[in-house]
Order: sequence, then structure tokens, then C-alpha cells
Amino acid sequence: MAAFDTFIGLEVHIHLLTKTKVFCDCAFEYGAPPNTHVCPVCLGYPGVLPTVNREALKFSYMVGEALHCTPSEKTFFERKNYFYPDMSKNYQITQFQEPVGLGGYFEFKTQGKTKKIRIHDIHLEEDAGKMIHDGNRSLVDYNRAGTSLLEIVTEPDLSSGEEAEDFLQAFRQMVQYMGVCDGNMEEGSLRCDANISINKKGKGLGTKVEIKNMNSSRNVRIAMRYEQRRQARAKKTGTKIVQETRLWDAENKKTQKMRTKEAAHDYRYFPEPDIPPFIPDEQFKEAVRAAMVELPAVRKERMKGEYGLQNDMVDFLTAEKSRADFYEKVIASGADKETSAKWMKGEFTKLLSREGLDISTTNMTPQRFSDLMKLLGDGTIHANIAKQILEIILEEDKDPSVIISERELMRPAADASGLENLIKEIIALEPAAIADIKEGNQKAIGFLMGKVMKETKGSFDPATVRAKLLELLGI
Ligand SMILES: [Zn+2]
Repeated sequence: MAAFDTFIGLEVHIHLLTKTKVFCDCAFEYGAPPNTHVCPVCLGYPGVLPTVNREALKFSYMVGEALHCTPSEKTFFERKNYFYPDMSKNYQITQFQEPVGLGGYFEFKTQGKTKKIRIHDIHLEEDAGKMIHDGNRSLVDYNRAGTSLLEIVTEPDLSSGEEAEDFLQAFRQMVQYMGVCDGNMEEGSLRCDANISINKKGKGLGTKVEIKNMNSSRNVRIAMRYEQRRQARAKKTGTKIVQETRLWDAENKKTQKMRTKEAAHDYRYFPEPDIPPFIPDEQFKEAVRAAMVELPAVRKERMKGEYGLQNDMVDFLTAEKSRADFYEKVIASGADKETSAKWMKGEFTKLLSREGLDISTTNMTPQRFSDLMKLLGDGTIHANIAKQILEIILEEDKDPSVIISERELMRPAADASGLENLIKEIIALEPAAIADIKEGNQKAIGFLMGKVMKETKGSFDPATVRAKLLELLGI
């Protein structure tokens, strides 16, 4: 690609986590039986009156704030006319002239550097229904029609598929942190179209091709790389690059011509006469400010400084807001910063993924985790016992101290003499093994170790047991 510059812009659509659709009171529930969440408004019956969902507006202005957009002081809606059965009223209510936010930028990390991408605008609109093509018939499900969708349009500032993928992942993490979108690309809560052009170095934008149908950030990366190569080949052979829309075919890993791109005016935008313009008042602006959270990039920097953790550890802890929240509560309850981080990344995460559990909804509260770390830190229990307690808490919903006393999990410091007596008993009961050891059979030591570990339910660490055993055997 050395001879060419690449320009990629994205149109990201996010489903806002509003309880109801954007212009009516229907609920949105992913996977609900077809056409069960519909009403005269979202089906566009004549004479109905849409009203704007305040929460959708609040979420939109929050995203605008996070992206440093200039918020509209008087935003309004327009009808984008088109004829296709996925929208029964033959138009989509969207924004064109006065979107909720204009301009702005987003910064994210890519290939070890910070990249800044300009945002063109963000606008609130309704989603269309879903078409299902089945043999020679087509079915339509209007459950999704009218659900709140926020579209974020970037300037063509990205220069590779890798950058596009990193942008999407960072953006997805941000909206998840804010609680405005669940970010699930497989379910279509976060969708992305791209436009891409290449040109000889320093010549500016080339002919723009739009790519649709990429349902994961990975597919965006691969599709962009494919398209870069396809366009470069065309340039080298003197073939004209056509301004068009192409579909990504994930199975065959290539883009295919869909239709030549309509110019924006083909849609004929008309002001929506049934919805008055929205003028954010002081109360609304205050609600937006109050709902803002510390964004991932800022939180990462703060936590790095505050807890003295390494980069990869902070990346792990802040990957999800619920995880970062959990960690900070554990530390606030007095547990050690480094031990807690290590245990969260290691045993606890292993256990959560094995059981398919979410950190915010298990019996393991930050307080219990903190208590466990303290018991480990002051030597009351050792690592093996801590692992067991971790599992038991998830299953039985009890505090670590209760589990220790209920199960008589031994405390090595207090019961060192108990260990000695136990080993003496076992030695007395296993004369054959002792004879083997005297003849130099090392395996018999392992056999005795196993006996002791079993009797003590693993509450002593193996090194201590082995040392004591060898001492009592006079080896
Ligand atoms: Zn409805």
C-alpha cells in the first residue's frame, strides 16, 4: 500500500438502551416473537402522533458530550423518504439539517499511539424493521421498526483496517461504560458501515466506495484490507473505480457490488411536521451532565497512577466498567492493591468464565473478595484454601469467615503442632511405605504426602508438609 494513501470513514449505528422505542411506547426486546412489539405509531397508520423519547435525547446528548460535539440548541427531525417494506410508512424519521451534535472528535489507542478521529455529526433516528428472505418469499418483522438508533458519522480520518477495528473497540467500550448501548455486534446493537477510498500519496481523497454488512469489528478490518487491495489493483491497471455500495461477503471474504450510491438528495428529506423542535433547557443539560461517567481512557490513566499497576493489568481491570468498579470497591474495603489485582485477573476470572458468570451478579461481593484477600495477606489461610473458598462462595453464598469455621479449614500458624502429630500418626500406620523410603524409594514419599494432604484437606501448602515429613523421617 506504500504508493497510496487510504481514507476510511465510518457510520456507526448504536441501539440506545431506552426502555421504549423512540417515538412510541412499544418496548424493544431482542429475540421477541415477530411483530409482537408494534403499535399504530411505529407501523405508521394515518393520523397517529409520534412523540420523542426524552431518554433517547438524553443518551444522544451524552454521546455528543463524550465526543466533544457542539450540541444543538434547537434540534429537529425530518422524514427521509424511501420505498421498501422494512418501514411500513415509507419514510424514516431521522435528522438531517440540525442533528443533536455537530463536529467533535474521538481519541483512541492504536498500534501503540494515540489517534484522533474527527466526528462529522451524530443524529438520532428510528431503526427500520427486519426483512427475512426465505426462498422465494420475504417476511418482515416490525419489532425493530421505530427503536432508537443513534448514528455517529466520522470524517475519513482512519487509514487502515486495523485502525478501524481499534476505533470500533474503543468506541464500543465507551458507550458500554456510559450505559447507553450494550455494544453487542452479533445482535446488531452496534452496527457499522464504512466508506473507503485510496489515492496516490499526497493527492487527497479518491472515489469513495461504501461497504455494508460487516457484523463484527474483525470483519471491518478484513473488509477494509480487501477493499484497499481491490482499489489499488484497479488504480494500477487503469480500471475506473466506481462510486457504489458494496456488500461484505464474510464467507468468501470479499466485497460485492450492491447498487450505485444514491446522492443524499434522492431521499428528499422533509421536516417532520408532527414533532416540534427540541430545545434543551437548563434542567435537561444538567441531567445530561449528571449522567456522565468517567470514560475508559480517563479512568485507565487515573487507576494506573492511583494503584501503581502495570499497563496490561490496568487494561484488564478497566476492560469492563463492572470489573473496574468491583476492583475499586475491593481496595476501598482495605485489601492489598497488587494481590487483589492478581487474584482478580487469575483465579477469579478463570472461575467466572468456567461457570459463565458475570462479575456484577454473583455471590462474590467486593466486600467478601476484600475479606478473602485480607485473610490471605495476614497468613490465616494460604493460596490453596483461598481458591477453595472462592469456589464455595460462588456456590453457597456465604462469607469467607463462615466457610472457614464451618469446614474447619486449618490455619497453618495455629496448627503447626497438629500437623506434626498427624504426620507421626500416618508414619506409624504405614510401616511398609517407611521401609520403602529407607531403601531409597522416592515414590513412597509422595504416597505419604498424599495421605497428609488428604487428611488436612489441603490446608497446608505442600512445601511445608514435605519439609515436616522429611524432618520426622530423619532424611
Ligand atoms: Zn410502537
